Amino acid sequence: MRQFAALSRREALAEAHRCLMCWDAPCTRACPTVIDVPGFIKRIATGDDRGSAHKILSANILGSSCGRVCPTEILCEGACVLNDLHDRPIQIGRLQAYSTDPFVLGGHQIFNRGAPSGHRVAVVGAGPAGLSCAAELVQLGYEVAVFDADDTPGGLNTHGVADYKLRQETSLAEIEWIRGLGIEIRSGVRVGTDIEFEDLLAEYDAVFAGVGLGGIQPLRIPGEDLAGSEDALQFIRRLKSPHRDEMSLVGERVAVIGGGNTSIDAATQSARLGADKVYVVYRRGRDEMRAYDHEFERARSDGVEFVFWAAPVAIAGEDSVTGLVCRRTELAGGDGNRPAVVLVEGTDFALDVTRVFRATGQKKRRDFFSGLSAIELDAEGRVIVDDAFRTAHPKVWAGGDCVNGGQEVVNAVAHGKQAARGIDSALRRDRTEEGS
Ligand code: SF4
Repeated sequence: MRQFAALSRREALAEAHRCLMCWDAPCTRACPTVIDVPGFIKRIATGDDRGSAHKILSANILGSSCGRVCPTEILCEGACVLNDLHDRPIQIGRLQAYSTDPFVLGGHQIFNRGAPSGHRVAVVGAGPAGLSCAAELVQLGYEVAVFDADDTPGGLNTHGVADYKLRQETSLAEIEWIRGLGIEIRSGVRVGTDIEFEDLLAEYDAVFAGVGLGGIQPLRIPGEDLAGSEDALQFIRRLKSPHRDEMSLVGERVAVIGGGNTSIDAATQSARLGADKVYVVYRRGRDEMRAYDHEFERARSDGVEFVFWAAPVAIAGEDSVTGLVCRRTELAGGDGNRPAVVLVEGTDFALDVTRVFRATGQKKRRDFFSGLSAIELDAEGRVIVDDAFRTAHPKVWAGGDCVNGGQEVVNAVAHGKQAARGIDSALRRDRTEEGS
């Protein structure tokens, strides 16, 4: 299965006519970017395709990819009143893609650059937060340059979301459409190496940092460097490369470590690549997994076996992985709301696997911010911002995963847009003061 199938016009109209156009729109209130759901659905129902796409994209410039990658089951569709009427919720994500695809993926721009403000803004990171911020700023009349360390822009949308949800081509087509607004994207430029953050501060009127998170945390167990042991995000990234069709896990046995959605993505992808057996090993129970129910059920229906209350203690093998040694876990005391997990001595068991994918949470970007003393981080390593997403440095705004520690694409889009509005009101104030 690759990305959901597009709705036909007939299907979209039928679905749109099921919507009750609720005046209080709980679906809209559940959306971090506050898309006017009944508003865009009404325009589909009345044949106003452009108006429908405009409604969505003016709220969320990445509305096309968000229609695919959002956990709609727990956001807009989860809030749909039809759930309470024991009916199927409106397929909001699919309608959103139906509306936006002809414009976004078809390359037809529906927005304009704003009248020049005379100010320039640097955006660090071409992921969802950075692109959202850049798109909003360009429409407000700013000259924007986006600096991205990767050779291809898009962050997790392009490189880290499993292909069965969002294909790389779709993400890149969406970025081209956004770039068409007049945004300069400098790919392969690593801020801190190829250009210094201080240089951006000197050259631009404001800087937005949407640098996301780092690689997956190491397990710190013996055998972690063996061939066949890998960061799950790197595995997904390879699956999204042009060589993906050559990849196969036929004859392999896989263990994925971790209980979040990246873990489920890696497990599901492994099963669909033909692995003989796929385990997900998680140190707590099902109720404490961060993975969504629908993702969990999808993995189970693909034959993935979940091993709860177990943690890896060693990866076996000479040169490459031949097994995974796990130890049973249990809850101990602990302060706070979440009791700590401890290993239970004498309970080791082995899984017969040839691949181990780590999906145990991404590292925070302390490395990136370490030399920028004016930007404050909290104890977890997240950037501290105010309500307008401004950091402690007066010229720096931040948003997305580096601020919230890792949430959905749609949350990053919302941050980027709100930060752009924050930058605009600060620079607008400066212009007013200069002119008075
Ligand atoms: Fe339509 Fe459901 Fe939203 Fe009501 S809650 S407006 S039925 S999508």
